[in-house]
Amino acid sequence: MIKIVNIVGARPQFIKCAAISRVIRERSDIEEVIVHTGQHYDRNMSEIFFKELDIPEPDVNLGVGSGTHAVQTAEILSSFEKILLDVKPDWVLVYGDTNSTLAAALAASKLNLKIAHVEAGLRSFNREMPEEINRIVTDHVSDILFAPTQTAMDLLAAEGLAGLSNLSGDVMYDSVLYSRSLAEKKFGNTRIVPYDNFYLATVHRQENTDRPERLESIFKAFERMDLPVVLPLHPRTKNTIGKVNPGENIKIIEPVGYLEMLMLLHQSQKVLTDSGGLQKEAFFMEKQCITLREETEWTETLNDNWNSIVGTDTEKILESLKTEPTGERGNYFGDGRAAHHIINTLLQQ
Ligand code: UDP
Repeated sequence: MIKIVNIVGARPQFIKCAAISRVIRERSDIEEVIVHTGQHYDRNMSEIFFKELDIPEPDVNLGVGSGTHAVQTAEILSSFEKILLDVKPDWVLVYGDTNSTLAAALAASKLNLKIAHVEAGLRSFNREMPEEINRIVTDHVSDILFAPTQTAMDLLAAEGLAGLSNLSGDVMYDSVLYSRSLAEKKFGNTRIVPYDNFYLATVHRQENTDRPERLESIFKAFERMDLPVVLPLHPRTKNTIGKVNPGENIKIIEPVGYLEMLMLLHQSQKVLTDSGGLQKEAFFMEKQCITLREETEWTETLNDNWNSIVGTDTEKILESLKTEPTGERGNYFGDGRAAHHIINTLLQQ
């Protein structure tokens, strides 16, 4: 019997952890402890994902809530240490690149506990992104690095981490494959929004939300598009949006659950986003993506124009809408069983 602590705190982590937790629960030789840091706490940013994706209730909620990067990280660091001392896990599983990931990895590493990083080796090479710092530090204090793609494996090797790296495939691909049919069953042909044709957009990266002029430039493009732009609004963006006055063509909705999001993706014409996860999900669901950033960690999606990096310039965004993918999508993200590979590898250590 081994004991695994799954620590999560933000929306994309619930989706990644769901795939792992499902595989753990198929087995009888693993005890799972789920810790929620409380980084995301609104019902539609947290609870809905546990319900829809059938993730067990967290055993512990650290309740950190919002705060500056330092405050959030410090609070998780000190409260998670107490949990670790009590639980004494064989493995601590951390996901992605949030403050919860960084703080959990630091706390575990100082206690000499074994850490596995799921979604290791991602790099934007933009250190202004808080996520980039979180990824680099987490990779370098972890004991095993589960890389979703060969590109991530190569980047880890370039940092001297080849010996700890393992090409597992992408748990987000597992999640889409598993949940797509659940979503179709739940919603059938129901249209999630009352538009036959629309673009699906999300905007929440700090680099875009902290600079109203960037958000304004993005919204100007949305306003001039030939179809309505449906924008499930992230709480972080809500704080800036008052300053930029979105126009009529931008259809703001509350953040939706994962199954609704998959349906929105399916029903949309194209996707415009600065999200990491959504770039890939667009690719998995065969939708062209336009990325509202200056770089991407998911460079594979750029092949054959399935994704393009356009930044925030209004004209460039509008220009990119005129392009189409030029070929078949490649197979870069594993076999849909990344979570099985991860758990099997951990059991063999
Ligand atoms: N997502 C969702 N509802 C929404 C917006 C996003 O379920 O209203 C999902 C999306 O499908 C993806 C994940 O949240 O799986 C992406 O999270 P986010 O964009 O917050 O983070 P990032 O991937 O950029 O780290």
